Amino acid sequence: MSTVVAPYVTQWSSEEAAPFQMIALPGGIGYADETLGDRDSRGILWTRTPSRHGEGKPVFGLVHGPRQRRAMRRLLCQVCAGPADRSTDGVLWILQDQREDWPGWPNRMGITEPPICLPCAELSTRLCPALRRGHVLIRARTHPLAGVFGMQYEPGLPTPVRTETGLVAFDSPRIRWTLAAQLIRELNDCTILETP
Ligand SMILES: [Zn+2]
Repeated sequence: MSTVVAPYVTQWSSEEAAPFQMIALPGGIGYADETLGDRDSRGILWTRTPSRHGEGKPVFGLVHGPRQRRAMRRLLCQVCAGPADRSTDGVLWILQDQREDWPGWPNRMGITEPPICLPCAELSTRLCPALRRGHVLIRARTHPLAGVFGMQYEPGLPTPVRTETGLVAFDSPRIRWTLAAQLIRELNDCTILETP
């Protein structure tokens, strides 16, 4: 087993996005020099992040959009990129403990963090006691792709104006005005696991 220097989804210093020019199209935003690969099958516009995994230094705290998207879509472990753990209770996630937020948490929550495998979950909670205190392991039986995390824009002159960064559902009218950076899943049928 190779040593994991940084989680798979962590951005590296060589992976900064190039500057871009945003324009307003009828009903949404687009790149001034847009090409086919800039949008997904839903027509959503994505950030142009280069992929140079492992070059330079890991930038902890920054998430690499294309790897996040791949891990989220394929349900890969966010740390090692192997298959995430799965049981009859569903796919395993490690989440910040926000049980106080609403009854039934984390059901109906939209998340950007891809799932995790059991060895990586055990390793991260063993190496980092603070993580164990502040986090919980959960399993989710249903976890549909639900939207994107990205930068929202509104019409403006001469170019569209950035407003806020956040979660936008696929069925929101704002999705055409969003530059997507990460894929969101919605967790449901969740079980909170007892931590050892
Ligand atoms: Zn893993």
